[in-house]
Amino acid sequence: MSSILVTGAAGFIGSHFVESLLHDNQEPKNLSFEKVISYDILSYAGHLKNLEKCEANKKHLFVKGNICDQEKVNQLIREYSISTIVNFAAETHVDRSLYESENFVSTNIGGTHSLLESCRKFQCRFIQISTDEVYGPLKKDSLASTENSPIRCSSPYSASKASADLLTLSYVTSFGINAVITRCCNNFGPRQNSEKFIPKTIENWKLGKSTPLYGDGKNRRQWIDVRDHCLGIKKLLAKIDRVENGSIFHFGSQFEVSNLELIEALARFYPEAPSEKYQFVSDRPGHDWRYCLNDQKTKQILDWRNIYTVEDSIKNILENS
Ligand code: NAD
Repeated sequence: MSSILVTGAAGFIGSHFVESLLHDNQEPKNLSFEKVISYDILSYAGHLKNLEKCEANKKHLFVKGNICDQEKVNQLIREYSISTIVNFAAETHVDRSLYESENFVSTNIGGTHSLLESCRKFQCRFIQISTDEVYGPLKKDSLASTENSPIRCSSPYSASKASADLLTLSYVTSFGINAVITRCCNNFGPRQNSEKFIPKTIENWKLGKSTPLYGDGKNRRQWIDVRDHCLGIKKLLAKIDRVENGSIFHFGSQFEVSNLELIEALARFYPEAPSEKYQFVSDRPGHDWRYCLNDQKTKQILDWRNIYTVEDSIKNILENS
């Protein structure tokens, strides 16, 4: 039996994914790996505590390392007969990408390239976890982005993710590696790094402070429960040998709201929120107005639906924050 390497596993989504691979009784049940190897550099965004529920599981192994360290990744592939790599590892904070873009280029592009080289050498399957942000801003009445929509990046973060996606597709075409890409909307759930919008808001409210809101708060996003996102990736993993090589899969949601509406939704479940819940601050450069994914193809091919309601998700965050 082969093993799976999950990179960026000590971060927000990666840790939920590893947990669901190890503990989940949900469909699909035909996913069986000898070892689930969590690989993470433990940057400011990665925490071993995020994987504490996996610690006692004999199938689980944590290895500290950089995805740019190809020799170390190759060694793991050899030692544990790794057949599949799921790449969550990335620099992910858009604001940081405006003043620390080098790390975004080296990890998101260089690191993905290094993993692709390993996949080429050892014929591993590869799932690249990407984002809706690669499509850039949509107008209010525009149709949702499809997998064929043009890439129009606004931030060094989205540009680095799009570059990694293009590299992945080039490895499919040039070398025939077995790789697919997922692009998801904004995730919510416990364990998100405190610099991101929802945890930052809760942290501020706990201190009785209002939370900063960029621009006029009208920028719109789709939000998905992290558990739904992970289930989708598992369904893709279960079918990876039967989907077209180089396919792109969207994970969207019906919950498309402005940042202001999201704050109001959170406040409905957080009665202790201060009376001045938010404070407008000057907008971020290149702040995309709206993202919206069309995920019909994913629903059809993977037989996937997002099942958690907004209420479920917000309660889960507040109970675990
Ligand atoms: P995160 O910032 O919480 O976690 C990223 C993890 O990657 C951290 O544990 C960090 O230590 C690790 N990492 C960073 N550089 C590394 C390196 N060089 N080598 C090994 N590990 C490294 O991010 P997240 O929110 O969990 O996002 C995971 C993936 O999902 C990212 O690729 C992101 O682009 C994508 N994504 C996130 C969202 C979202 O809403 N959070 C939405 C769509 C797509």
